[in-house]
Amino acid sequence: MHADGEKFDAIVVGAGPAGTTAALTMAKEGMRVALLERGEYPGAKNVFGGVLYRWPLEEIIPKFWETAPLERQIVDHRFMVMAKDSGLLMSFKVDGKDKAPYNGYTAIRAKFDRWYASKAEEAGVLLANSVAVDDVITENGKVVGVRAGQGAENELYASVVIGADGVNSSVAVKTGLRNPPDPDEVAIGVKEVVELPSETIEARFNLRKGEGARMETIGCTHGKMGGGFIYTNSSSLSVGVVILLSHLMELQMKPYTLLDEFKSHQMIEPLIAGGKAKEYSAHLIPEAGYSRLPRLYGDGVMIVGDAAFLCSYPEGTNLAMASGMIAGKAALHAKKNNDFSANSLSAYQKMLAESYAMKEMKRKSSSHKQLIQNPRLFGVYPDLVGELLADMLHINGELKSLKHKRAIKKFRQKIGLLRAIRDAYSARGMAP
Ligand SMILES: Cc1cc2nc3c(=O)[nH]c(=O)nc-3n(C[C@H](O)[C@H](O)[C@H](O)COP(=O)(O)OP(=O)(O)OC[C@H]3O[C@@H](n4cnc5c(N)ncnc54)[C@H](O)[C@@H]3O)c2cc1C
Repeated sequence: MHADGEKFDAIVVGAGPAGTTAALTMAKEGMRVALLERGEYPGAKNVFGGVLYRWPLEEIIPKFWETAPLERQIVDHRFMVMAKDSGLLMSFKVDGKDKAPYNGYTAIRAKFDRWYASKAEEAGVLLANSVAVDDVITENGKVVGVRAGQGAENELYASVVIGADGVNSSVAVKTGLRNPPDPDEVAIGVKEVVELPSETIEARFNLRKGEGARMETIGCTHGKMGGGFIYTNSSSLSVGVVILLSHLMELQMKPYTLLDEFKSHQMIEPLIAGGKAKEYSAHLIPEAGYSRLPRLYGDGVMIVGDAAFLCSYPEGTNLAMASGMIAGKAALHAKKNNDFSANSLSAYQKMLAESYAMKEMKRKSSSHKQLIQNPRLFGVYPDLVGELLADMLHINGELKSLKHKRAIKKFRQKIGLLRAIRDAYSARGMAP
């Protein structure tokens, strides 16, 4: 047993959205919680696009948008179908629905995670930065603490350990809840932050002051599963590409080569022109989907967020927070009954199964396997859209009826009606 008797009710490993939410949920109800973060401060190295959604953060910190360090409120949702030398851009804005408080906000993780963890501290959580947990401590098969280095001085004990240490979670792997991810279970996201004056961003994206746009793109990953993105921050753009790791390996390309290609495309280059590259980062994103979700609990342990593969890109932070909140509630219940056994903590997975987070995971991943095996949607379709529109919109005296016939012939040759129906079925999980 631990030498000096110091024991917390809960140790949370990782102060990202999942971990901080779990810690906050437990501390608010009086549990003694230690939140261990390997970064110099929460968010120091965390990467996302990205958009932070109002749900479920609003349930945890009501009116968070009044004090949180947010960048822009998202009012414009853009979707682009890109081919090598063409691009079809759709933009969707709706008045009323996107009035304050907004549904989503861009944020910079280094600022947001730090602010969010400070809210957990205010609730009584002990936050320890620069602590990299490398193992769990078990007694009779039950997790009783964590280790962050050699020797008793680097051990900490608790009734329950919550692994919120992201996609490469050591808690998940060391407890045997899951293996390190395979290359077809994760995507790699590479991102550059490009600085631009806020007025330039507003002019280029047709936004009013303070408004923001998000843009998701397919067709920029050499026909492999993935896409590109641009998110508008206050005075910078987050520009990036995401691709399934196994597909990137097949391409034998460096991720930043893909990003450079994306940035130099005629649809993107004018949006970032004159900007100053501020930082470059890369991060893995869980893509395992519902069918490969691990067991999320054991004796004295639960895993949440990316650590548990609970991500359905581009929704990740919200699912992380939802799972953190539910795990926190399961821990409170366990504390009340003084029972942190696997049987007691199984309440977490049961409650999660009833939540939006898990139901959405299930919906999306129903088509995930088909998309990995048949990534036509990321190459053949965008190329065909570009080819057909270029032909249609080019006025050269040739009758439109002839062009229509040619378009149908091309569609039949390259795809075929029945295959298109099958593809539409496998793409249903991509629907927003
Ligand atoms: C390029 C990109 C774009 C994305 N865009 C979006 C988006 O627009 N919207 C969205 O909602 N999601 C987006 N996501 C997904 C989202 O970022 C993740 O799903 C989310 O951050 C998961 O939260 P988490 O708390 O589970 O893990 P993380 O955010 O990864 O946090 C894990 C924390 O644990 C710490 N940690 C790791 N190991 C240890 C250790 N051994 N000891 C102590 N601490 C440790 C880390 O430093 C980190 O602070 C994007 C991801 C990427 C990569």
